[in-house]
Amino acid sequence: MTAHTLPPLFDRLDAGLAEIDRAHLRRRHRVVSTPCQPHVCADGRDVLAFTSNDYLGLAAHPKVVAALIDGAQRYGAGSGASHLISGHFRAHAELEDALAQFMSPHLVEARALYFCTGYMANLATISALAGKDAEIFSEALNHASLIDGARLSRARTQIYPHGDVDALGALLAASTAETKLIVTDGVFSMDGDIAPLPQLLALAERHNAWLIVDDAHGFGVVGENGRGVFEHFALRSPNLVIIGTLGKAAGVGGAYVAANRRVIEWLVNRARPYIFTTAAAPSQAHALLTSLAIIAGDEGRERRATLQARIAQLRDTLTLRHWRHMASPTGVQPIILGENAAALHAQAGLAEAGLWVPAIRPPTVAPGTSRLRVTLSAAHTEDDIARLAAAINQLDRDWTAHDHD
Ligand SMILES: *Cc1c(COP(=O)(O)O)cnc(C)c1O
Repeated sequence: MTAHTLPPLFDRLDAGLAEIDRAHLRRRHRVVSTPCQPHVCADGRDVLAFTSNDYLGLAAHPKVVAALIDGAQRYGAGSGASHLISGHFRAHAELEDALAQFMSPHLVEARALYFCTGYMANLATISALAGKDAEIFSEALNHASLIDGARLSRARTQIYPHGDVDALGALLAASTAETKLIVTDGVFSMDGDIAPLPQLLALAERHNAWLIVDDAHGFGVVGENGRGVFEHFALRSPNLVIIGTLGKAAGVGGAYVAANRRVIEWLVNRARPYIFTTAAAPSQAHALLTSLAIIAGDEGRERRATLQARIAQLRDTLTLRHWRHMASPTGVQPIILGENAAALHAQAGLAEAGLWVPAIRPPTVAPGTSRLRVTLSAAHTEDDIARLAAAINQLDRDWTAHDHD
């Protein structure tokens, strides 16, 4: 290769990356060469992983993989166009019908729309429902994609403190905006707790507001039949706009919005992140029909029960002195360490024991709350959880903060 003198433009990147290093915030990839499951080969090493959001173990499920292959044989590799040009295949339509049917107990005149990713579903939904004159009421711990959706809308956005229904009520009462949107994660992605949705829905109905709930970590996991936080609380309302992602518990990829059919019709006509992108491969939608059948059926119920047993085992076997396990009823089981360096140290200690648990640092979480984000799956065995708990307990016992100043 010939040496190339880079223009001064690059100075800013070099300085910025050096700053990221000083703050212990550099992010890097690990390359996985096996399917997504508890035991993976990452960067050439066999490790036991507590990293993925594949809560039910469907990402490598033989029936789902077979359906993906079947879908590729039926429909080919790619969709070739956006949904509104020629990229909307029968598999997409069938998946949308199945999702609408599945989520219909929570909606009035349900219809569903399939998106390439949850990130795009959130951008699309918020920006299309909130005109410039709308006001958005956004929960403090919302996922980045919800925050970006609010930014894209250019609507005035008010942030209410985590779980603070009274503060939200006061903000809504003071608002004169004609269109109001309450926006929240269903299950908080970094904490694993569940939003107080019955109270939020009551406020939405009282103040003529939309309640937009992103249930990325609840769909498939929470509720007797896996319909997420809506089933958990038995909610039903025309004001509800439900977003679920399909790359987590459903094991494949993409996302859906389910809502009253008029809301969906509005998105199809107005949501730029829906309109101006190539449709996800129809094989993916075809595979998701199988995921959904598993989630809604007996096997899904069994897998949810297994996941709950693993969650209880972890909770009951951790004996932390220095760190804090935020026990949750979901697959997200954070262990709070505080400082970035502490989280990185713990991540490295677990790696030495052959365990892969990601350290999560700002800006993904608030400064001072860096953590190990343990995620559990129905695919983990009792032995897997025992190894994890023993390794974390050992690191916590050996931990002395001043070593890491
Ligand atoms: C993962 C996640 C998303 C993004 O979904 P993708 O399909 O991965 O783009 C959105 N919201 C929350 C809460 C998430 O955890």
